[in-house]
Amino acid sequence: MLVVMKPNATEAQVDAVVERIRSMGLVPHAIPGAQRTAIGITGNKGGLDPSLFEGQPGVREAIRVSQPFKLVSREVKAEDTVIQVGGVSIGGPRIVVMAGPCSVESREQILESAREVKAAGATMLRGGAYKPRTSPYEFQGLAEEGLKLLALAREETGLPIVTEAMDSETLAMVADYADLVQIGARNMQNFSLLKQLGKLGKPVLLKRGPSSTIREWLMAAEYVVAHGNPRVALCERGIRTFENATRNTLDLNAVPVLKSLTHLPVVVDPSHGIGLRAHVPAMARAAVAAGADGLIVEVHPCPEKALSDGQQSLTPGEFSGLMAQVKVIAGAVGRPV
Ligand code: PEP
Ligand code: MN
Repeated sequence: MLVVMKPNATEAQVDAVVERIRSMGLVPHAIPGAQRTAIGITGNKGGLDPSLFEGQPGVREAIRVSQPFKLVSREVKAEDTVIQVGGVSIGGPRIVVMAGPCSVESREQILESAREVKAAGATMLRGGAYKPRTSPYEFQGLAEEGLKLLALAREETGLPIVTEAMDSETLAMVADYADLVQIGARNMQNFSLLKQLGKLGKPVLLKRGPSSTIREWLMAAEYVVAHGNPRVALCERGIRTFENATRNTLDLNAVPVLKSLTHLPVVVDPSHGIGLRAHVPAMARAAVAAGADGLIVEVHPCPEKALSDGQQSLTPGEFSGLMAQVKVIAGAVGRPV
């Protein structure tokens, strides 16, 4: 349920509603809005009766939320959520482009990547230090050393960094270095990790599980928000289908569908989505045309030597060409890059 206060409601009236919600054993959530104060309620097992709140001073109306995800739904918050990440806004008018290698491999590799993607116009640097690899024999990432190298690249270029946290044990350390904490596709429904992210003082990029529906994904985001962290962006990265000509099937349907269901920003990862370097630019352009708020793209100074995902990584030159195209598409849909 959402309790909407009158525009002129006093702080004391808001506090009284919050207190009433708590006294019923339920959890109040302040929903920031430009025009009015609203309070979301979670923790109720069945439906609540609007009359429980509608008589209270300062209350305009109490609305039942029909979706199972509450706090992330447009019903509860109509305005887009804009997340501040180290001076970059995700979810505002400007399209955010995060770029860099799949994995941090060495000092030279990450510094060169950072310089190149910055020169091409990227506004954030990506790079994994903890890598979820299908095979235990593949490169697993440089761990904390990788995080330190990312911090060095940020210091040199000023680009905020997005990097993956893979488990509860290393989450706090990753969050110490990261500006935006990526939760990988394989962890989308790691509920204990999601609860921990709720307590985190850093924004989260929640990737879609390869076999998850949009509703399951939104429920995963709801975990993070319900546990106290409203700074969540969603990332479509391709789902598993019968198609095997591509690595995954980039579900661009998800972009407009999410935009209507949730106020959270939507980012698209065309690299994992299609998995083939030659076709990454086409899907990146399509994502922007479909209304994505941002892109996350794998770029490597020398893709054939990459320790992970070289087959889908763009060269710096290819990325620069893509940025020029993205600017045109963004302009066509009324958004700057
Ligand atoms: C990645 O970003 O390199 C990655 C492993 O992504 P995903 O979790 O989407 O597979
Ligand atoms: Mn990768």
